[in-house]
Amino acid sequence: MKHPDPDRQRGATHTVENQPPPFEDVNLFDLDAALGEGLAREGGGWAATRVRDYGAVMGRADTLALGRDANRHPPELTAFDRFGHRIDEVAFHPAWHALLGLAMEHEVHALPWRDPRAGAHVARTALHSILNQVEAGHACPITMTYACVPTLRAEKSVADEWEPRVTATRYDARSLPAREKTAATIGMGMTEKQGGSDVRANRTLAHPIGDDAYELVGHKWFYSAPMSDALLTLALTRPGAPPTCFLVPRWRPDGNRNPFHIQRLKDKLGNRSNASSEIEYRGTWARRVGPEERGVRTILAMVHHTRLDCVSGSTGLMRMALAQAIHHARHRAAFGRRLFEQPLMRNVLADLALEVEAATALMLRLARGYDGASDDAGERAFARITAAVGKYWVCKRAPHAIGEAMECLGGNGYVEEAILARLYREAPLNAIWEGSGNVICLDVLRAIAREPDALPALLGEIRTARGADPRLDAAVAKLEQDLRDPADAETRARDIVERLAMALQASLLLRHAPPAVADAFCASRLAGAGRMFGTLPASTDFAFILDRALPA
Ligand SMILES: Cc1cc2nc3c(=O)[nH]c(=O)nc-3n(C[C@H](O)[C@H](O)[C@H](O)COP(=O)(O)OP(=O)(O)OC[C@H]3O[C@@H](n4cnc5c(N)ncnc54)[C@H](O)[C@@H]3O)c2cc1C
Repeated sequence: MKHPDPDRQRGATHTVENQPPPFEDVNLFDLDAALGEGLAREGGGWAATRVRDYGAVMGRADTLALGRDANRHPPELTAFDRFGHRIDEVAFHPAWHALLGLAMEHEVHALPWRDPRAGAHVARTALHSILNQVEAGHACPITMTYACVPTLRAEKSVADEWEPRVTATRYDARSLPAREKTAATIGMGMTEKQGGSDVRANRTLAHPIGDDAYELVGHKWFYSAPMSDALLTLALTRPGAPPTCFLVPRWRPDGNRNPFHIQRLKDKLGNRSNASSEIEYRGTWARRVGPEERGVRTILAMVHHTRLDCVSGSTGLMRMALAQAIHHARHRAAFGRRLFEQPLMRNVLADLALEVEAATALMLRLARGYDGASDDAGERAFARITAAVGKYWVCKRAPHAIGEAMECLGGNGYVEEAILARLYREAPLNAIWEGSGNVICLDVLRAIAREPDALPALLGEIRTARGADPRLDAAVAKLEQDLRDPADAETRARDIVERLAMALQASLLLRHAPPAVADAFCASRLAGAGRMFGTLPASTDFAFILDRALPA
Protein backbone atom coordinates (compact mmCIF):
# COMPACT_ATOMS: atom_id res chain seq x y z
CA MET A 1 0.00 0.00 0.00
CA LYS A 2 1.27 3.48 -0.84
CA HIS A 3 2.28 5.56 2.20
CA PRO A 4 -0.05 8.52 2.64
CA ASP A 5 2.88 10.96 3.30
CA PRO A 6 5.89 10.14 1.01
CA ASP A 7 8.23 12.64 2.75
CA ARG A 8 7.61 11.01 6.10
CA GLN A 9 8.18 7.61 4.56
CA ARG A 10 11.63 8.69 3.24
CA GLY A 11 12.55 10.56 6.40
CA ALA A 12 13.00 13.82 4.48
CA THR A 13 13.01 16.74 6.91
CA HIS A 14 13.05 19.70 4.54
CA THR A 15 13.99 21.10 1.18
CA VAL A 16 17.20 23.18 0.99
CA GLU A 17 16.22 26.59 -0.26
CA ASN A 18 17.24 30.23 -0.02
CA GLN A 19 20.93 29.29 -0.17
CA PRO A 20 23.15 30.85 -2.86
CA PRO A 21 24.90 28.82 -5.53
CA PRO A 22 28.68 28.59 -4.96
CA PHE A 23 30.72 31.49 -6.24
CA GLU A 24 33.00 29.53 -8.55
CA ASP A 25 33.84 29.00 -12.21
CA VAL A 26 34.09 32.74 -12.58
CA ASN A 27 36.78 34.90 -14.14
CA LEU A 28 38.19 36.91 -11.26
CA PHE A 29 39.61 39.50 -13.65
CA ASP A 30 36.58 40.02 -15.88
CA LEU A 31 34.31 40.55 -12.90
CA ASP A 32 36.51 43.32 -11.55
CA ALA A 33 36.03 46.53 -13.56
CA ALA A 34 38.29 48.60 -11.30
CA LEU A 35 41.13 46.10 -11.74
CA GLY A 36 40.80 46.00 -15.52
CA GLU A 37 40.59 49.77 -15.91
CA GLY A 38 43.47 50.34 -13.51
CA LEU A 39 45.65 47.78 -15.25
CA ALA A 40 45.21 49.63 -18.54
CA ARG A 41 45.53 53.10 -17.01
CA GLU A 42 48.78 52.42 -15.16
CA GLY A 43 50.57 50.89 -18.12
CA GLY A 44 49.85 47.18 -17.85
CA GLY A 45 47.18 46.98 -20.55
CA TRP A 46 49.44 44.84 -22.73
CA ALA A 47 49.12 42.10 -20.10
CA ALA A 48 45.31 42.06 -20.00
CA THR A 49 45.02 38.69 -21.74
CA ARG A 50 47.58 37.15 -19.43
CA VAL A 51 45.84 38.52 -16.31
CA ARG A 52 42.48 37.40 -17.68
CA ASP A 53 43.84 33.88 -18.23
CA TYR A 54 45.07 33.72 -14.67
CA GLY A 55 41.76 35.16 -13.43
CA ALA A 56 39.96 32.33 -15.23
CA VAL A 57 42.22 29.60 -13.86
CA MET A 58 42.11 30.94 -10.32
CA GLY A 59 38.32 31.33 -10.36
CA ARG A 60 37.73 27.73 -11.39
CA ALA A 61 35.99 25.47 -8.90
CA ASP A 62 38.90 23.05 -8.84
CA THR A 63 41.44 25.83 -8.14
CA LEU A 64 39.29 27.22 -5.34
CA ALA A 65 39.20 23.69 -3.94
CA LEU A 66 43.02 23.63 -3.98
CA GLY A 67 42.96 26.70 -1.76
CA ARG A 68 40.66 24.94 0.69
CA ASP A 69 42.72 21.74 0.71
CA ALA A 70 46.04 23.48 1.16
CA ASN A 71 44.68 25.03 4.35
CA ARG A 72 42.76 22.03 5.66
CA HIS A 73 45.94 19.93 5.51
CA PRO A 74 48.67 22.15 6.93
CA PRO A 75 52.36 21.41 6.41
CA GLU A 76 54.22 19.01 8.69
CA LEU A 77 57.83 19.09 9.79
CA THR A 78 60.02 16.00 9.58
CA ALA A 79 63.19 17.00 11.38
CA PHE A 80 64.83 13.54 11.20
CA ASP A 81 64.67 10.56 8.89
CA ARG A 82 63.82 7.18 10.38
CA PHE A 83 67.48 6.45 11.02
CA GLY A 84 67.94 9.62 13.04
CA HIS A 85 69.70 11.78 10.46
CA ARG A 86 68.60 15.40 10.43
CA ILE A 87 66.75 16.22 7.25
CA ASP A 88 64.68 19.28 8.28
CA GLU A 89 62.05 18.80 5.62
CA VAL A 90 58.52 20.12 5.57
CA ALA A 91 55.85 18.15 3.73
CA PHE A 92 53.00 20.09 2.11
CA HIS A 93 49.68 18.93 0.75
CA PRO A 94 49.73 18.43 -3.05
CA ALA A 95 47.30 21.38 -3.35
CA TRP A 96 50.04 23.72 -2.11
CA HIS A 97 52.41 22.53 -4.80
CA ALA A 98 49.70 22.78 -7.46
CA LEU A 99 49.00 26.40 -6.53
CA LEU A 100 52.69 27.28 -6.57
CA GLY A 101 53.01 25.58 -9.94
CA LEU A 102 50.16 27.68 -11.33
CA ALA A 103 51.60 30.90 -9.92
CA MET A 104 55.05 30.29 -11.36
CA GLU A 105 53.71 29.16 -14.71
CA HIS A 106 51.88 32.52 -14.85
CA GLU A 107 55.06 34.38 -13.78
CA VAL A 108 53.51 35.88 -10.64
CA HIS A 109 56.94 35.48 -9.03
CA ALA A 110 59.01 37.02 -11.81
CA LEU A 111 57.20 38.88 -14.58
CA PRO A 112 59.03 42.24 -14.27
CA TRP A 113 62.44 40.54 -14.19
CA ARG A 114 61.66 38.29 -17.15
CA ASP A 115 59.98 40.98 -19.23
CA PRO A 116 61.11 44.33 -17.85
CA ARG A 117 58.94 46.60 -19.97
CA ALA A 118 56.85 49.51 -18.73
CA GLY A 119 53.84 48.23 -16.84
CA ALA A 120 55.37 44.89 -15.83
CA HIS A 121 55.15 45.60 -12.09
CA VAL A 122 51.59 46.82 -12.59
CA ALA A 123 50.67 43.61 -14.43
CA ARG A 124 52.33 41.41 -11.84
CA THR A 125 50.62 43.30 -9.05
CA ALA A 126 47.26 42.58 -10.69
CA LEU A 127 48.21 38.88 -10.90
CA HIS A 128 49.30 38.87 -7.29
CA SER A 129 46.05 40.39 -6.06
CA ILE A 130 44.14 37.67 -7.93
CA LEU A 131 46.36 34.99 -6.38
CA ASN A 132 45.50 36.30 -2.90
CA GLN A 133 41.80 36.08 -3.59
CA VAL A 134 42.07 32.33 -3.78
CA GLU A 135 44.85 31.26 -1.39
CA ALA A 136 47.10 33.70 0.41
CA GLY A 137 49.54 31.25 2.03
CA HIS A 138 51.43 30.47 -1.15
CA ALA A 139 51.70 34.20 -1.83
CA CYS A 140 54.52 34.19 0.74
CA PRO A 141 57.13 32.23 -1.27
CA ILE A 142 55.89 33.86 -4.48
CA THR A 143 56.38 37.33 -3.01
CA MET A 144 59.78 36.52 -1.51
CA THR A 145 60.97 35.06 -4.79
CA TYR A 146 59.79 38.14 -6.69
CA ALA A 147 61.19 40.57 -4.15
CA CYS A 148 64.62 38.99 -3.71
CA VAL A 149 65.92 39.98 -7.14
CA PRO A 150 66.92 43.61 -6.38
CA THR A 151 68.83 42.33 -3.33
CA LEU A 152 70.51 39.49 -5.27
CA ARG A 153 71.67 42.13 -7.74
CA ALA A 154 73.66 43.80 -4.97
CA GLU A 155 76.25 41.04 -5.56
CA LYS A 156 76.83 40.33 -9.23
CA SER A 157 78.21 36.82 -8.85
CA VAL A 158 75.26 35.84 -6.66
CA ALA A 159 72.78 37.35 -9.11
CA ASP A 160 74.47 35.60 -12.05
CA GLU A 161 74.03 32.27 -10.33
CA TRP A 162 70.61 32.69 -8.70
CA GLU A 163 68.58 35.06 -10.84
CA PRO A 164 68.06 32.57 -13.67
CA ARG A 165 66.84 30.03 -11.10
CA VAL A 166 64.42 32.30 -9.28
CA THR A 167 62.92 33.66 -12.48
CA ALA A 168 62.41 30.24 -14.07
CA THR A 169 58.78 29.20 -14.41
CA ARG A 170 58.68 25.40 -13.93
CA TYR A 171 58.08 25.01 -10.20
CA ASP A 172 60.10 22.17 -8.75
CA ALA A 173 59.05 20.88 -5.33
CA ARG A 174 61.94 18.45 -4.97
CA SER A 175 64.40 18.88 -2.13
CA LEU A 176 67.62 18.99 -4.13
CA PRO A 177 70.52 21.39 -4.65
CA ALA A 178 69.15 24.34 -6.62
CA ARG A 179 71.44 23.70 -9.57
CA GLU A 180 69.63 20.39 -10.18
CA LYS A 181 66.14 21.92 -10.17
CA THR A 182 64.01 23.52 -12.87
CA ALA A 183 63.33 26.59 -10.70
CA ALA A 184 64.11 27.88 -7.23
CA THR A 185 62.25 29.84 -4.58
CA ILE A 186 63.68 32.19 -1.96
CA GLY A 187 62.75 33.13 1.60
CA MET A 188 63.84 35.81 4.04
CA GLY A 189 65.13 35.42 7.59
CA MET A 190 65.52 38.58 9.63
CA THR A 191 63.41 38.29 12.78
CA GLU A 192 65.13 36.94 15.89
CA LYS A 193 63.65 36.27 19.32
CA GLN A 194 64.87 39.54 20.77
CA GLY A 195 63.65 41.70 17.90
CA GLY A 196 61.90 41.76 14.56
CA SER A 197 61.19 45.39 13.76
CA ASP A 198 64.56 46.41 15.14
CA VAL A 199 66.80 44.22 12.98
CA ARG A 200 69.87 45.89 14.40
CA ALA A 201 69.16 43.75 17.46
CA ASN A 202 70.22 40.67 15.41
CA ARG A 203 72.80 38.50 17.19
CA THR A 204 73.53 35.77 14.59
CA LEU A 205 77.24 35.70 13.84
CA ALA A 206 78.94 35.09 10.49
CA HIS A 207 82.44 33.56 10.51
CA PRO A 208 84.43 34.05 7.28
CA ILE A 209 85.80 30.89 5.66
CA GLY A 210 87.21 32.57 2.52
CA ASP A 211 85.98 33.59 -0.94
CA ASP A 212 83.03 35.62 0.37
CA ALA A 213 81.76 32.45 2.08
CA TYR A 214 80.87 32.34 5.77
CA GLU A 215 79.48 29.99 8.36
CA LEU A 216 76.56 31.29 10.37
CA VAL A 217 75.80 30.53 14.00
CA GLY A 218 72.56 31.81 15.47
CA HIS A 219 68.82 31.57 15.05
CA LYS A 220 65.81 33.11 13.33
CA TRP A 221 62.53 33.23 15.21
CA PHE A 222 60.32 33.48 12.16
CA TYR A 223 61.25 32.02 8.82
CA SER A 224 58.38 31.33 6.43
CA ALA A 225 58.38 28.95 3.49
CA PRO A 226 61.37 27.00 4.91
CA MET A 227 61.47 24.64 1.93
CA SER A 228 62.69 27.54 -0.20
CA ASP A 229 65.93 26.75 -1.98
CA ALA A 230 67.73 29.60 -0.25
CA LEU A 231 67.01 32.48 2.03
CA LEU A 232 68.38 35.97 2.38
CA THR A 233 69.31 36.67 5.96
CA LEU A 234 71.17 39.08 8.22
CA ALA A 235 74.12 38.27 10.45
CA LEU A 236 77.00 40.12 12.12
CA THR A 237 80.58 39.67 10.97
CA ARG A 238 81.67 40.54 14.53
CA PRO A 239 79.69 41.10 17.73
CA GLY A 240 78.29 44.61 17.78
CA ALA A 241 78.89 45.26 14.08
CA PRO A 242 76.04 46.43 11.85
CA PRO A 243 74.41 43.45 10.07
CA THR A 244 75.57 42.08 6.74
CA CYS A 245 73.26 40.38 4.23
CA PHE A 246 73.85 36.72 3.29
CA LEU A 247 72.36 34.14 0.98
CA VAL A 248 71.90 30.76 2.67
CA PRO A 249 71.18 27.81 0.34
CA ARG A 250 69.51 24.66 1.68
CA TRP A 251 72.38 22.62 0.19
CA ARG A 252 76.07 23.39 0.42
CA PRO A 253 78.10 23.83 -2.78
CA ASP A 254 79.64 20.37 -2.19
CA GLY A 255 76.18 18.81 -2.57
CA ASN A 256 75.63 18.06 1.13
CA ARG A 257 72.73 19.39 3.18
CA ASN A 258 73.52 22.74 4.71
CA PRO A 259 73.06 22.52 8.50
CA PHE A 260 69.76 24.34 8.69
CA HIS A 261 67.82 23.17 11.69
CA ILE A 262 64.10 23.69 11.63
CA GLN A 263 63.24 23.64 15.32
CA ARG A 264 59.48 23.69 14.94
CA LEU A 265 56.65 25.14 12.87
CA LYS A 266 54.57 27.99 14.22
CA ASP A 267 50.97 27.27 15.18
CA LYS A 268 49.40 30.31 13.50
CA LEU A 269 46.05 32.10 13.55
CA GLY A 270 45.78 31.89 9.77
CA ASN A 271 48.13 31.54 6.80
CA ARG A 272 47.98 27.86 7.64
CA SER A 273 48.94 26.42 4.27
CA ASN A 274 52.29 28.18 4.59
CA ALA A 275 54.88 26.82 6.99
CA SER A 276 56.47 29.46 9.22
CA SER A 277 59.34 28.06 11.19
CA GLU A 278 61.95 28.70 13.83
CA ILE A 279 65.42 27.84 12.57
CA GLU A 280 68.94 27.58 13.88
CA TYR A 281 72.14 28.09 11.97
CA ARG A 282 74.89 25.81 13.23
CA GLY A 283 77.87 26.43 11.02
CA THR A 284 75.51 27.05 8.13
CA TRP A 285 77.22 27.87 4.84
CA ALA A 286 76.38 31.33 3.50
CA ARG A 287 77.52 33.80 0.87
CA ARG A 288 77.77 37.50 1.43
CA VAL A 289 75.43 39.68 -0.60
CA GLY A 290 76.34 43.36 -0.88
CA PRO A 291 78.96 45.16 1.19
CA GLU A 292 79.85 44.03 4.67
CA GLU A 293 77.97 45.83 7.45
CA ARG A 294 75.52 47.31 4.94
CA GLY A 295 73.10 44.42 5.23
CA VAL A 296 70.09 46.45 6.33
CA ARG A 297 70.31 48.66 3.28
CA THR A 298 70.92 45.61 1.05
CA ILE A 299 67.91 43.67 2.29
CA LEU A 300 65.68 46.75 2.33
CA ALA A 301 65.56 46.52 -1.46
CA MET A 302 63.76 43.21 -0.95
CA VAL A 303 61.55 44.57 1.83
CA HIS A 304 60.53 47.49 -0.40
CA HIS A 305 59.17 45.02 -2.96
CA THR A 306 57.44 42.82 -0.40
CA ARG A 307 55.56 45.88 0.81
CA LEU A 308 53.99 46.34 -2.60
CA ASP A 309 52.74 42.76 -2.25
CA CYS A 310 51.31 43.46 1.19
CA VAL A 311 49.16 46.12 -0.48
CA SER A 312 48.07 43.90 -3.37
CA GLY A 313 47.66 40.92 -1.03
CA SER A 314 45.28 42.77 1.27
CA THR A 315 43.46 44.23 -1.72
CA GLY A 316 42.96 40.70 -3.07
CA LEU A 317 41.67 39.42 0.27
CA MET A 318 39.17 42.29 0.48
CA ARG A 319 38.14 41.85 -3.13
CA MET A 320 37.22 38.19 -2.65
CA ALA A 321 35.34 39.03 0.56
CA LEU A 322 33.39 41.74 -1.26
CA ALA A 323 32.55 39.47 -4.20
CA GLN A 324 31.35 36.75 -1.83
CA ALA A 325 29.21 39.22 0.11
CA ILE A 326 27.52 40.70 -2.97
CA HIS A 327 27.01 37.25 -4.48
CA HIS A 328 25.43 35.98 -1.29
CA ALA A 329 23.17 39.01 -0.90
CA ARG A 330 21.95 38.65 -4.47
CA HIS A 331 20.73 35.12 -3.79
CA ARG A 332 19.58 35.19 -0.21
CA ALA A 333 16.24 36.61 0.95
CA ALA A 334 15.13 37.73 4.40
CA PHE A 335 11.96 39.47 5.49
CA GLY A 336 10.39 39.04 2.07
CA ARG A 337 13.12 40.59 -0.06
CA ARG A 338 16.52 39.62 -1.30
CA LEU A 339 19.25 40.94 0.97
CA PHE A 340 20.62 42.76 -2.03
CA GLU A 341 17.41 44.82 -2.19
CA GLN A 342 17.44 45.76 1.48
CA PRO A 343 18.50 49.42 1.71
CA LEU A 344 20.76 48.99 4.71
CA MET A 345 22.50 45.96 3.20
CA ARG A 346 23.06 47.96 0.00
CA ASN A 347 24.72 50.64 2.06
CA VAL A 348 27.11 48.13 3.68
CA LEU A 349 27.96 46.45 0.38
CA ALA A 350 28.48 49.73 -1.48
CA ASP A 351 30.71 51.04 1.30
CA LEU A 352 32.83 47.87 1.07
CA ALA A 353 32.95 48.27 -2.70
CA LEU A 354 34.36 51.79 -2.29
CA GLU A 355 37.03 50.45 0.02
CA VAL A 356 38.09 47.82 -2.48
CA GLU A 357 38.03 50.15 -5.45
CA ALA A 358 40.13 52.71 -3.57
CA ALA A 359 42.62 50.02 -2.54
CA THR A 360 42.79 48.74 -6.12
CA ALA A 361 43.49 52.21 -7.52
CA LEU A 362 46.18 52.84 -4.92
CA MET A 363 47.87 49.47 -5.45
CA LEU A 364 48.11 49.87 -9.22
CA ARG A 365 49.33 53.48 -9.07
CA LEU A 366 51.92 52.39 -6.51
CA ALA A 367 53.03 49.56 -8.80
CA ARG A 368 53.55 52.09 -11.58
CA GLY A 369 55.96 53.83 -9.25
CA TYR A 370 58.00 50.60 -9.15
CA ASP A 371 57.92 50.43 -12.93
CA GLY A 372 59.21 53.97 -13.24
CA ALA A 373 61.71 53.78 -10.39
CA SER A 374 64.71 52.70 -12.47
CA ASP A 375 64.81 55.80 -14.68
CA ASP A 376 62.53 58.39 -13.08
CA ALA A 377 63.60 59.93 -9.78
CA GLY A 378 60.10 61.29 -9.17
CA GLU A 379 58.51 57.86 -9.50
CA ARG A 380 61.22 56.38 -7.30
CA ALA A 381 60.51 58.96 -4.59
CA PHE A 382 56.76 58.38 -4.98
CA ALA A 383 57.13 54.61 -4.63
CA ARG A 384 59.43 54.97 -1.63
CA ILE A 385 56.91 56.81 0.51
CA THR A 386 53.69 55.47 -0.97
CA ALA A 387 54.72 51.85 -0.36
CA ALA A 388 54.74 52.62 3.35
CA VAL A 389 51.63 54.81 3.31
CA GLY A 390 49.71 52.28 1.22
CA LYS A 391 50.89 49.27 3.21
CA TYR A 392 49.80 50.87 6.45
CA TRP A 393 46.36 51.86 5.29
CA VAL A 394 45.26 49.07 2.98
CA CYS A 395 46.53 46.31 5.29
CA LYS A 396 44.90 47.95 8.30
CA ARG A 397 41.55 48.25 6.55
CA ALA A 398 41.46 44.61 5.50
CA PRO A 399 40.46 42.91 8.80
CA HIS A 400 37.64 45.38 9.34
CA ALA A 401 36.35 45.17 5.77
CA ILE A 402 36.57 41.37 5.66
CA GLY A 403 34.84 41.05 9.04
CA GLU A 404 32.01 43.16 7.71
CA ALA A 405 31.79 41.14 4.50
CA MET A 406 31.67 37.98 6.60
CA GLU A 407 28.70 39.38 8.49
CA CYS A 408 26.86 39.91 5.20
CA LEU A 409 26.77 36.11 4.91
CA GLY A 410 25.40 35.78 8.42
CA GLY A 411 26.25 32.46 10.08
CA ASN A 412 27.27 30.97 6.74
CA GLY A 413 30.17 33.42 6.69
CA TYR A 414 31.55 32.18 9.99
CA VAL A 415 31.89 28.50 9.10
CA GLU A 416 35.02 27.09 7.58
CA GLU A 417 33.36 25.89 4.37
CA ALA A 418 32.96 29.51 3.31
CA ILE A 419 36.18 31.19 2.29
CA LEU A 420 35.33 34.19 4.48
CA ALA A 421 36.61 32.55 7.65
CA ARG A 422 39.98 31.90 6.03
CA LEU A 423 40.18 35.40 4.56
CA TYR A 424 39.45 36.83 7.99
CA ARG A 425 42.16 34.82 9.72
CA GLU A 426 44.63 35.85 7.06
CA ALA A 427 43.71 39.52 7.14
CA PRO A 428 45.83 40.87 10.04
CA LEU A 429 49.05 39.34 8.77
CA ASN A 430 49.97 41.81 6.04
CA ALA A 431 49.85 44.58 8.63
CA ILE A 432 52.23 42.70 10.95
CA TRP A 433 55.04 41.45 8.73
CA GLU A 434 57.30 43.55 6.55
CA GLY A 435 56.93 46.37 9.06
CA SER A 436 54.12 46.46 11.62
CA GLY A 437 51.72 49.42 11.69
CA ASN A 438 53.63 51.73 13.99
CA VAL A 439 56.97 50.88 12.44
CA ILE A 440 55.58 51.65 9.00
CA CYS A 441 54.23 55.01 10.13
CA LEU A 442 57.61 55.85 11.65
CA ASP A 443 59.15 54.84 8.33
CA VAL A 444 56.93 57.40 6.60
CA LEU A 445 58.33 60.04 8.98
CA ARG A 446 61.83 58.80 8.16
CA ALA A 447 61.18 59.09 4.45
CA ILE A 448 59.83 62.62 4.92
CA ALA A 449 62.86 63.64 6.98
CA ARG A 450 65.64 61.95 5.02
CA GLU A 451 64.43 61.89 1.44
CA PRO A 452 63.49 65.40 0.45
CA ASP A 453 61.75 64.33 -2.76
CA ALA A 454 59.49 61.73 -1.18
CA LEU A 455 56.70 63.78 0.39
CA PRO A 456 56.58 66.31 -2.49
CA ALA A 457 56.22 63.37 -4.92
CA LEU A 458 53.23 62.00 -3.01
CA LEU A 459 51.62 65.39 -2.42
CA GLY A 460 52.20 66.26 -6.08
CA GLU A 461 50.33 63.15 -7.13
CA ILE A 462 47.47 63.96 -4.74
CA ARG A 463 47.30 67.56 -5.92
CA THR A 464 46.86 66.48 -9.52
CA ALA A 465 43.16 66.36 -8.67
CA ARG A 466 43.16 69.89 -7.23
CA GLY A 467 39.86 71.61 -7.92
CA ALA A 468 38.02 68.39 -8.68
CA ASP A 469 36.29 68.27 -5.31
CA PRO A 470 36.31 70.85 -2.49
CA ARG A 471 36.40 68.08 0.12
CA LEU A 472 39.74 66.87 -1.20
CA ASP A 473 41.09 70.42 -1.46
CA ALA A 474 40.16 71.04 2.16
CA ALA A 475 41.67 67.74 3.30
CA VAL A 476 44.95 68.47 1.51
CA ALA A 477 45.15 72.00 2.91
CA LYS A 478 44.70 70.65 6.43
CA LEU A 479 47.24 67.89 5.81
CA GLU A 480 49.84 70.34 4.54
CA GLN A 481 49.29 72.52 7.58
CA ASP A 482 49.67 69.55 9.95
CA LEU A 483 52.75 68.29 8.10
CA ARG A 484 54.45 71.64 8.69
CA ASP A 485 54.03 71.23 12.44
CA PRO A 486 56.99 69.20 13.76
CA ALA A 487 55.61 68.83 17.30
CA ASP A 488 54.80 65.32 18.53
CA ALA A 489 55.44 63.88 15.08
CA GLU A 490 55.68 60.27 16.29
CA THR A 491 52.53 60.52 18.36
CA ARG A 492 50.63 61.91 15.36
CA ALA A 493 52.15 59.59 12.76
CA ARG A 494 49.18 57.24 12.33
CA ASP A 495 46.82 60.17 11.92
CA ILE A 496 49.01 61.76 9.27
CA VAL A 497 49.59 58.52 7.36
CA GLU A 498 45.95 57.54 7.17
CA ARG A 499 44.99 60.97 5.91
CA LEU A 500 47.74 60.83 3.29
CA ALA A 501 46.45 57.43 2.18
CA MET A 502 42.84 58.49 1.91
CA ALA A 503 43.77 61.74 0.15
CA LEU A 504 45.71 59.73 -2.42
CA GLN A 505 42.81 57.32 -2.88
CA ALA A 506 40.36 60.21 -3.26
CA SER A 507 42.63 61.90 -5.78
CA LEU A 508 42.92 58.73 -7.85
CA LEU A 509 39.17 58.05 -7.75
CA LEU A 510 38.31 61.66 -8.67
CA ARG A 511 40.53 61.45 -11.71
CA HIS A 512 39.81 57.92 -12.84
CA ALA A 513 36.71 56.34 -11.30
CA PRO A 514 33.09 57.02 -12.24
CA PRO A 515 31.74 60.12 -10.45
CA ALA A 516 29.34 58.07 -8.28
CA VAL A 517 32.28 56.17 -6.78
CA ALA A 518 34.49 59.22 -6.26
CA ASP A 519 31.67 61.28 -4.79
CA ALA A 520 30.66 58.61 -2.27
CA PHE A 521 34.31 58.07 -1.33
CA CYS A 522 34.89 61.78 -0.66
CA ALA A 523 31.62 62.06 1.25
CA SER A 524 32.45 59.16 3.53
CA ARG A 525 36.24 59.27 3.84
CA LEU A 526 37.06 62.96 3.65
CA ALA A 527 33.96 64.76 4.86
CA GLY A 528 33.40 62.41 7.78
CA ALA A 529 30.73 59.78 8.14
CA GLY A 530 30.15 56.92 10.52
CA ARG A 531 32.99 54.75 11.74
CA MET A 532 31.49 51.49 10.48
CA PHE A 533 30.92 50.34 6.94
CA GLY A 534 27.34 51.04 5.87
CA THR A 535 27.18 54.70 6.80
CA LEU A 536 27.18 56.25 3.33
CA PRO A 537 24.78 59.14 2.81
CA ALA A 538 21.34 58.27 1.42
CA SER A 539 22.13 60.29 -1.73
CA THR A 540 24.74 57.67 -2.78
CA ASP A 541 24.17 55.97 -6.14
CA PHE A 542 24.07 52.50 -4.61
CA ALA A 543 22.79 50.76 -7.73
CA PHE A 544 25.67 51.99 -9.85
CA ILE A 545 28.37 51.25 -7.29
CA LEU A 546 27.11 47.73 -6.66
CA ASP A 547 26.67 46.80 -10.28
CA ARG A 548 30.16 48.04 -11.01
CA ALA A 549 31.64 46.10 -8.09
CA LEU A 550 30.19 42.77 -9.23
CA PRO A 551 28.03 42.65 -12.35
CA ALA A 552 24.92 40.56 -11.83
C1 LIG B 1 53.02 34.41 10.05
C2 LIG B 1 54.29 35.16 10.16
C3 LIG B 1 55.31 34.87 9.30
C4 LIG B 1 56.52 35.55 9.39
N1 LIG B 1 57.53 35.25 8.52
C5 LIG B 1 58.71 35.88 8.63
C6 LIG B 1 59.79 35.53 7.77
O1 LIG B 1 59.68 34.70 6.88
N2 LIG B 1 60.98 36.16 7.95
C7 LIG B 1 61.16 37.11 8.93
O2 LIG B 1 62.25 37.64 9.03
N3 LIG B 1 60.15 37.45 9.76
C8 LIG B 1 58.93 36.87 9.62
N4 LIG B 1 57.91 37.21 10.47
C9 LIG B 1 58.17 38.13 11.55
C10 LIG B 1 57.61 39.52 11.34
O3 LIG B 1 58.27 40.16 10.28
C11 LIG B 1 57.77 40.25 12.67
O4 LIG B 1 56.91 39.63 13.60
C12 LIG B 1 57.49 41.72 12.56
O5 LIG B 1 58.49 42.34 11.80
C13 LIG B 1 57.42 42.40 13.92
O6 LIG B 1 58.54 42.08 14.70
P1 LIG B 1 58.37 41.50 16.18
O7 LIG B 1 57.42 40.35 16.12
O8 LIG B 1 59.70 41.26 16.74
O9 LIG B 1 57.64 42.64 16.98
P2 LIG B 1 58.32 43.91 17.66
O10 LIG B 1 59.41 44.44 16.81
O11 LIG B 1 58.61 43.61 19.06
O12 LIG B 1 57.10 44.93 17.60
C14 LIG B 1 55.95 44.76 18.41
C15 LIG B 1 55.03 45.95 18.20
O13 LIG B 1 55.68 47.13 18.59
C16 LIG B 1 55.60 48.10 17.58
N5 LIG B 1 56.79 48.93 17.63
C17 LIG B 1 58.07 48.57 17.41
N6 LIG B 1 58.87 49.63 17.50
C18 LIG B 1 58.09 50.69 17.82
C19 LIG B 1 58.34 52.07 18.06
N7 LIG B 1 59.57 52.58 17.97
N8 LIG B 1 57.30 52.87 18.35
C20 LIG B 1 56.05 52.38 18.40
N9 LIG B 1 55.76 51.09 18.21
C21 LIG B 1 56.76 50.25 17.90
C22 LIG B 1 55.45 47.31 16.28
O14 LIG B 1 54.81 48.08 15.28
C23 LIG B 1 54.62 46.15 16.74
O15 LIG B 1 53.26 46.50 16.69
C24 LIG B 1 56.68 36.56 10.36
C25 LIG B 1 55.64 36.87 11.23
C26 LIG B 1 54.45 36.20 11.13
C27 LIG B 1 53.33 36.55 12.06
